[in-house]
Amino acid sequence: MFLGHFGLALAAKRVATQPSLGTAVLAAQWADGLWPVFTLLGIERLEIVPGATAVSPLDFVSYPYSHGLVADAGWAALFALAYGVLRRDWRGALWLAALVLSHWVLDVIAHRPDMPTWPGGPTLGLGLWNSVAGTLLVEFALYGSGAWIYASATRPRDRLGIVVYWSFVVTLALIYLASVFGPPPPSPRAVAVTGAVAWLFVAWAYWIDRHRVPVGAV
Ligand SMILES: [Zn+2]
Repeated sequence: MFLGHFGLALAAKRVATQPSLGTAVLAAQWADGLWPVFTLLGIERLEIVPGATAVSPLDFVSYPYSHGLVADAGWAALFALAYGVLRRDWRGALWLAALVLSHWVLDVIAHRPDMPTWPGGPTLGLGLWNSVAGTLLVEFALYGSGAWIYASATRPRDRLGIVVYWSFVVTLALIYLASVFGPPPPSPRAVAVTGAVAWLFVAWAYWIDRHRVPVGAV
């Protein structure tokens, strides 16, 4: 899953107003932020197999530390603890933990059965990626709802609050469509390097949040 993770991060603003959108995106994308790093370090492994699924040519051979259920529960707890201690906002911390874990749930829906649970445990996956139409429907439904919820739960502080937000929404959607309909990536390393670019979107989301305020806030 890709856009769906961002959809949940955007929607979280409705229930947890204090965490920045940047922190919410960081939480929802935590697993995908880790695996390029772990892949480049040789700790996790993926291969490119065109046609592996209708949507994604990636064969996730081993990624228990970024995408395992138990690992992600641990990351969720650490993430929430770090945020809670820094910000003294435990309600926000709980929602951020939910976002970190939601990544695993959404990926189980999208992936074929390659999502790790615990070391030596079963791998799960419902295989939404076997259908291009189904994948686009779910991704854009989650993303569109999230974008709408964030836009209505906040209002722009200035003109940048409009420009920076909507350019983010459109750019991500275009990148996603290019990845679905474009050629498969040339190498696992290229995938990892491109994946690491996702960190840019975390920074972009922090920028957005500075220029928008929750509705009702002064
Ligand atoms: Zn993922």
